[in-house]
Amino acid sequence: MKQWDLKGKKVLLRVDFNVPIKDGKITDDTRIVKSLDTIHQLIQSGARIIIMSHLGRPLKELNEDGTINKSKFSLEPIAQRLGEILTAKVSFSTDCGGEDSLQKIQALQDGDILLMENTRFYKQEEKGDLEWAKSLASLGEYYINDAFGAAHREHCSTATIARFFDNDHKSFGILMDAEVKNAEKILKNPARPFTAIIGGAKVSDKIDLISNLMDQCDHILIGGGMAYTFFAAQNIQVGKSLCELDKLELAKSLLEKAKNKNVQLHLPVDSIAANAFANDAKYYITPDANIHPDYMGLDIGPETIARYKKIIAESKSIVWNGPMGVFEMENFSSGTKSIAQAVAEATAHGCFTLIGGGDSVAAINKYNLADSVSFISTGGGAMLELLEGKVLPGIAAILSDSPIIK
Ligand code: AMP
Repeated sequence: MKQWDLKGKKVLLRVDFNVPIKDGKITDDTRIVKSLDTIHQLIQSGARIIIMSHLGRPLKELNEDGTINKSKFSLEPIAQRLGEILTAKVSFSTDCGGEDSLQKIQALQDGDILLMENTRFYKQEEKGDLEWAKSLASLGEYYINDAFGAAHREHCSTATIARFFDNDHKSFGILMDAEVKNAEKILKNPARPFTAIIGGAKVSDKIDLISNLMDQCDHILIGGGMAYTFFAAQNIQVGKSLCELDKLELAKSLLEKAKNKNVQLHLPVDSIAANAFANDAKYYITPDANIHPDYMGLDIGPETIARYKKIIAESKSIVWNGPMGVFEMENFSSGTKSIAQAVAEATAHGCFTLIGGGDSVAAINKYNLADSVSFISTGGGAMLELLEGKVLPGIAAILSDSPIIK
């Protein structure tokens, strides 16, 4: 992308502007801000920039009369915000690739931006419809995908459209490039020891992640609700803790795989257990892994924190996905907070640290440590799938040198 001479050229840019909007106001513009590096570079190069994005799932939440709920899903407030942030001229078209878009594209001058309406207003988008992708592709001479958060979707604007551009006319944007390169640092030849910290509610959501990372890492530190399924699989008392009884065999097979691969899979040695799922519940620190029958484990305990901190401090690469406990409740947040701080300290000592999506990102932000880790992924589901070893359609479509469709 950096080597192209884009002056006067029409560039189709797919971004992830799927930001939370309440009563027509953007409540968190992180995703917009993350796209700015690419947008600034395109403005400076004198390109005529045509931006596409989705927002929510408008066809799944239609108005009662079957029409699209534009007040909830229109990208117009985002065009306004872009106009405030950028010095460039920003216009908005009320369709995506229709009459209004065509007229406004005609009017673009070098360095101007057109944001087209939500790609998901069209049923063809999620179907990856070839004809619609072709008509979108015809709007520009170049295609750039910076929407890492949607890279795991095989949709028209994220994947199919790339089939109409050859390798000299399609590229990752700056954000997407950084996401892919940072994931590769972990997945290919990570500096060792390499530690994966996996938490969150359910083991069933992270099976592929744990399994794939086992092929690479030296240590896996398990926390969160998923730990109790591993305990139940070993006949340890879990009380009323979150536990997936239908996943016990699977948990056993992961423990077995770790042994065979010589990966050290660590489980909590103590927990903070409460008599209800509430911040003001009565709680105690368990003396060992067992939980009292009337209690549920809601956080890792102090001895586990100490052990995990030591392993983190000795690591050279770390990937973290999922909180260590119910960190949204103050009384059960110390595990997640301590691990976040330990990850930040390891970073300061030269460890490469990737925060791979979801609630661990929320935790890092909550404890104001965003600037103290190496990389925070913007794509929850997309990063999870990448770390699971899956090929993401949005990435493959850019890298693919298959013959273009005319
Ligand atoms: P996930 O989206 O799978 O990463 O799960 C994140 C959620 O797991 C957060 O909302 C946490 O509150 C929740 N969680 C973490 N630990 C526990 C636990 N021990 N019991 C119940 N929920 C938990």
